Parts: sequence; structure tokens; C-alpha cells
Amino acid sequence: MLAEAIAAVALICLDPGHGTRPAIGRQREPIGPGSRVTKIKDGGGARGEADAVLAIARRARTLLLRRGYRVAMTRTGGTFSGGNIERAQFCNRREASLMVRIHADGSADPSWSGVSTLVPARRAGWTDDVYSPSRRAARAVQRSLVGATGARNLGLVERSDLTGFNWADVPVLLVETGFMTNPREGRLLRSSSYQWRVARGLTAGVARFTSR
Ligand SMILES: [Zn+2]
Repeated sequence: MLAEAIAAVALICLDPGHGTRPAIGRQREPIGPGSRVTKIKDGGGARGEADAVLAIARRARTLLLRRGYRVAMTRTGGTFSGGNIERAQFCNRREASLMVRIHADGSADPSWSGVSTLVPARRAGWTDDVYSPSRRAARAVQRSLVGATGARNLGLVERSDLTGFNWADVPVLLVETGFMTNPREGRLLRSSSYQWRVARGLTAGVARFTSR
């Protein structure tokens, strides 16, 4: 009952990566509050990634709503007209229980494959408030994602350089759902049936995290 009550009020913020209008994507933004280090808002991602991760996010939204969660999405269409600061603030404003950033990887080496989950590195003033719950969520999501897809488990990776992490005031993680550049995994990530499997893994991981 308690788990259901929490699920009924928890808002999950889904952030499908990329899809930024090019004129905005090449603008720069500080990687964290007060930082002089800047990065571009969006390099565009791997080929086919923006469409695949949007499809996965839509499927995850369907499954999460079915379980009683509230869901917000930073973009529901092909384009997004902000940077990673805006993406984080979108989820902050809604006081999300978890921000799930959905991406897919790319590599010059087509043999690379597998799933990883990125989490914020601990930094005082930026991420110390969300570090522990983000790690807990990431462990749950990574395990469920690997279980649902059978993909290679590349584990958790801490990142200090991601703008969308450093501006987040809610628990946050970024799933790299596979490699678009791997012929087999790239084909799977573009297929509806595998997108549903990824979405089921994400949903199960979120449920495991929020029911604690
Ligand atoms: Zn990406």
C-alpha cells in the first residue's frame, strides 16, 4: 500500500536527449551554477539517437502512467529549444522524484555495445544534495535495464562535467541505452519491440527506486 501511495504522487521527469534546434545547440552554457567552464548545449548525439530515445521515452511514459506515476517530459516532439540548464530546471520546477535522461551511445568502433548509467559525481554546492539518491536510483535502473534487454552491462559511471547533472536539484541519472553505432544494437534500438523492452526496464528500475 505504501509503495502504491508513493507511486501515486511521485512525478518522474523524462528527458529524451538531443533534438535541439542547431542554432541553439551550438550555443554555450556554464556546466554548473557559477562556473566559468562552458559547454555547447547539444552536439546532436549519435546518428538516429534523438528519434530512438524519444520513442523509448514515450513508451516509458505510457508504462509509468499505467503504474500510477505522474510523468513530465522535457520534449514530446522532434525538437527542443533550450539547453541542458533548461532541461534540469524543467524537472527542478516540478520537484520531480527522479529525472531520467535517456540517451544512446556512439563510438568509432562498431564492436562496442552495452548499457551504462551515468550519475553525478559528488561536488559541494552542485550535486552533494542529490548524489546519494541518484546513485541509488542508478543502481536500480541499470540492473533492471540489463535484465529487461539482456544487453552487456557496462555499469555505473560518475560524471562531473555534465551540465544537466550539475544544475539538477532533484535525483538524476542518464541511461546510455546501447550503442547506435553497433550494427546489431543500433538496429534493435530503432525497433519498436526493443524500445518497449528498454522502457519496461526503465519503468521497473524507477519503481524499485521510488518504492524504498
Ligand atoms: Zn546522447
